[in-house]
Amino acid sequence: CAVVGIFGHKEASKLAYFSLHSLQHRGQEAAGISSSDGEKLHTIKDRGLVMSVFNEDKLATLSGSSAIGHTRYSTAGNDSILDAQPVFARYDLGEMAIVHNGNLTNADEVRARLIKRGAIFQTFMDTENLIHLIAKSEQDKLLDRIIDAVKKIEGAFSLVFLSRTKMFAMRDRFGFRPLSLGRLANGGYIVASETCAFDLVGATFVRDVEPGELLIFEEGKAPQSVKIFEPTPKHCIFEYVYFARPDSSVFGQSVYECRKEMGKELAKIRPVEADLVIPVPDGGVPAAIGYAQESGIPYEMGIMRNHYIGRTFIEPTQEMRDLKVKMKLSPMTDIIKGKRVVVIDDSIVRGTTSRRIIRMLKEAGAKEVHMRVSSPPTTDPCFYGVDTPSKENLIAANMGVQEICDFIEADSLAYLDEASLLRSVNATQDIYCTACFTGKYIV
Ligand code: 5GP
Ligand code: SF4
Repeated sequence: CAVVGIFGHKEASKLAYFSLHSLQHRGQEAAGISSSDGEKLHTIKDRGLVMSVFNEDKLATLSGSSAIGHTRYSTAGNDSILDAQPVFARYDLGEMAIVHNGNLTNADEVRARLIKRGAIFQTFMDTENLIHLIAKSEQDKLLDRIIDAVKKIEGAFSLVFLSRTKMFAMRDRFGFRPLSLGRLANGGYIVASETCAFDLVGATFVRDVEPGELLIFEEGKAPQSVKIFEPTPKHCIFEYVYFARPDSSVFGQSVYECRKEMGKELAKIRPVEADLVIPVPDGGVPAAIGYAQESGIPYEMGIMRNHYIGRTFIEPTQEMRDLKVKMKLSPMTDIIKGKRVVVIDDSIVRGTTSRRIIRMLKEAGAKEVHMRVSSPPTTDPCFYGVDTPSKENLIAANMGVQEICDFIEADSLAYLDEASLLRSVNATQDIYCTACFTGKYIV
């Protein structure tokens, strides 16, 4: 998911809307914005893409100088409108709205305890726990209640809270998911999952919200920082591999540069004789550029991606699924015919995409297809906010590299290893989560 918060701008909801556009890749299931006009909160959310949820008239009703927004990709809860965010609530201190990126690992226990104490839940989202924890806290001020609440939750959370007059932004002590602070041209502030949102609205990057830090935004004041937890960084390395947009800087580094470096490392440790390097668009592009630069093998666009395919309504029969991949990705026959190609993708999850791509390239006349993956085998699910399938659906959890190679019908298959991945992101300290590649879970 993506979160954004705008504070101190008379068109806050519009800026939130534009920001959500640039963060659309982090979630396509639902989108929403809450704004505050100082007296009342206004919320619009629905299933669908940012562009289809909002229009000029709707945005006009989201008045006020502060706003928070969200794009959803379900990792907890399910795919219903009730599970769209912001989560809004009225409670004894007034009104509040919350947006959340991450996944709370103790959500079930917290929820069971709350239900025992009489709480009634409207959604299946772990984020709703926070509303109840805040509403039930004994503290008098929202700030103290938020502190109370976040001390009861565990796991991954980059959060933005909006009240009638304030905004709060917070990251868990591990800093699993990114969250950055920027300055708007008019002197207001923005927080967002990725810095690509800043570029779009003309904001300048100030710094990342620190792991374990809570930022308080109040009118006429600089953001105030409170250290809630001792930071123990474990940033999600998969943000660099796949999730974040290449024009963003996350955890202090360019995503594009890291991805290109992964490609270079891959060329060093997994070379192959070939005529062309081609990416699986769009995810594999930076790593393929790196692979080509390092190996000296020419880079070509061998697969065309159709960007206008959304979710298709086509029935999920095998034949129709194959057709769907062809709708999305087509081979550049003249480029690949008779050639030995290295295909670069960022990850293999279920293995079905790679299998179809390789078939497609062979049908288009490729002489040999060598698959190179710019991350290690995905062997374990994520419990910190990325929707990897369960272990039985992860091909690398159930097959060795040669078996996967046979399954996807490649002439050869090789992955990046953990050490090279860490080198690609300049990891000199143990500050990254790599659990989906190693099974080494932190919480
Ligand atoms: P699969 O092996 O599951 O058929 O597909 C792998 C492809 O899905 C790769 O091209 C990779 O870029 C993409 N991918 C990797 N992780 C995710 C994810 O968490 N969600 C989605 N939607 N795609 C992913
Ligand atoms: Fe990121 Fe993987 Fe860790 Fe999840 S398990 S936080 S996807 S590195």
